[in-house]
Amino acid sequence: MAASAQNFMAALFISFTFVSTSFSQSILGISPQLLDLFAINRVFGHRKILKDNAFYCESWRFTVETNDAGFWNLTPKRCTSFVKDYMTGHHYSSDSAAVADQSLAFASTVKVSKDRMDAWIFDVDETLLSNLPYYVTHGFGSETFDEIAFDKWVIEADAPAIPASLKLYKELQQRGFKIFLLTGRSEYQRNDTEKNLVHAGYSNWERLILRGPTDNGKPATQYKSEKRKELEDEGYRIRGSSGDQWSDLMGFAVAQRSFKLPNPMYYVA
Ligand SMILES: [Mg+2]
Repeated sequence: MAASAQNFMAALFISFTFVSTSFSQSILGISPQLLDLFAINRVFGHRKILKDNAFYCESWRFTVETNDAGFWNLTPKRCTSFVKDYMTGHHYSSDSAAVADQSLAFASTVKVSKDRMDAWIFDVDETLLSNLPYYVTHGFGSETFDEIAFDKWVIEADAPAIPASLKLYKELQQRGFKIFLLTGRSEYQRNDTEKNLVHAGYSNWERLILRGPTDNGKPATQYKSEKRKELEDEGYRIRGSSGDQWSDLMGFAVAQRSFKLPNPMYYVA
């Protein structure tokens, strides 16, 4: 096809896109932003979307949160500012609140028994406590994890509560659930962890379970499953479990319902 003919066809296509877009918008009431996305798709295709950091990073975050991505090491460099905006803007707190709302909706359906054996398990980091003040100075997950620096941060015991989680925690307590805290932190961090939890507003948990000497080196899924199994063997009914990692929630002796909190900054296998 001659160049002039190609230009004509392109102009015709764009004109058609404009006309059909205006028509659809007026008839169906579709937002201009959504139509822009459709137009980008039609005219430029998948490659344009992959080149656009906002689209790429939102899709990357989707695969991370759904665990479609499986193991991943660092947040992509091109998504550092995306993750920063997500974590420090309203998006993270909104998603966290949505998860807490769904958790409470489920908890409302549970007939809590008078035997006090209905249990709810919470992870600690990025579930009850937010280490965002640490990650603000460590690249929002784009830098290799610095265990020594993070341990110093844990000793400070200054991580704030995730507000929606604190609210959920208190609601569940009021409804009669026994609260267990199951964390990948180690026994030597018990005092600092307890101090931080209390400082952030948490209280009256039934038990704080940390990695002991025999748990070292175990993958998180195995370690947490074993601890849940021990609770089941004690007679507890694990109604709900909340965690920011799939390894908090998968494996065996899983809760009746598991609730995944957002975390686009790191992955724990
Ligand atoms: Mg966690």
